[in-house]
Amino acid sequence: MMCEYTIETKDLTKVYNGSVSVDGVSLHVPKGQIYGLLGRNGAGKTTAMKMLLNLIRPTSGSVCLFGKSGAAFDRKQYHRIGSIIEAPAFYENLTAEENLRILAKLRGQHRRDSVACALRVVGLDKEKNKLFRAYSLGMKQRLGLAAAIMHEPELLILDEPMNGLDPIGIHETRSLLLRMCREKGTTILISSHILNEMEQLADTIGVLHAGRLLEETSMRKLYQQNRRYVEFEVSEVNKAAMILERSYGISDYEVIDKGLLRLYDRLDSRAEINAGFVQAGILVVNMSIQEGNLEDWFTRLIGGGGIG
Ligand code: ATP
Repeated sequence: MMCEYTIETKDLTKVYNGSVSVDGVSLHVPKGQIYGLLGRNGAGKTTAMKMLLNLIRPTSGSVCLFGKSGAAFDRKQYHRIGSIIEAPAFYENLTAEENLRILAKLRGQHRRDSVACALRVVGLDKEKNKLFRAYSLGMKQRLGLAAAIMHEPELLILDEPMNGLDPIGIHETRSLLLRMCREKGTTILISSHILNEMEQLADTIGVLHAGRLLEETSMRKLYQQNRRYVEFEVSEVNKAAMILERSYGISDYEVIDKGLLRLYDRLDSRAEINAGFVQAGILVVNMSIQEGNLEDWFTRLIGGGGIG
């Protein structure tokens, strides 16, 4: 199977004791992008990521990484991936630096400064001699991230990496991931239950709910579809469209159906435009403003109940 994506799954499914955790998920993670897997607690994000990393076996379906199907994916290829899945495991009685050195040795890393460099990047260089057990939750998360990026992988798979971080930590981690993606072309799959976090990071978003992938779309398209607009309900929609173009030079509008038109541009001129329609003999039945709101979109998509 040839894949054009860094990660591609087909109908990936995991059943635990008769209950379905991941249900026919087909992911498409483009190379060199940040892909946000968004879902409430228990949606199946961790389970899906574990299958990608071959930590658990799918009940059915397939995984394709770097264009190679799971079965053909050689163990030796795993150095191309960095990951954080659930709480990162480290030795409690060793320092951060010692922990990373052991990992580097296990991986057969060649760059001598990789440990120091990773610690610096995640802002732990001043704390590197503290024992792991004395680390705060946020520091543990940072160390997990250092371990994931230390070998400069082409692909990062990060399960809720912002968990336990303070606002500055979140900001720094976000900047780091964006930089890795933009400057080094790293492909990043990141899960979160916070929409806002995804908005600030992801190029593509996949919404997982009760094990199913409800939506997979580019952030740009999502913004486009959820922009603020004024909706006019008019008697003659084509005539109204013509007036927008000719009298106001507006082309950023959409005819929704024979009586509805949405205006995305020059929203502040809506009263004047309304008057223009009336003057041209168009009946304006209704005019309403819709605020663009991704959170509404997300809530509608997963069927209410807010974000986990
Ligand atoms: P969270 O953000 O809370 O970690 P998640 O989206 O990562 O949620 P998963 O951890 O993948 O969700 O869990 C999805 C479902 O699968 C849950 O109902 C969970 O109880 C179930 N599940 C996960 N691991 C196992 C397991 N080892 N045995 C049985 N059920 C499991």
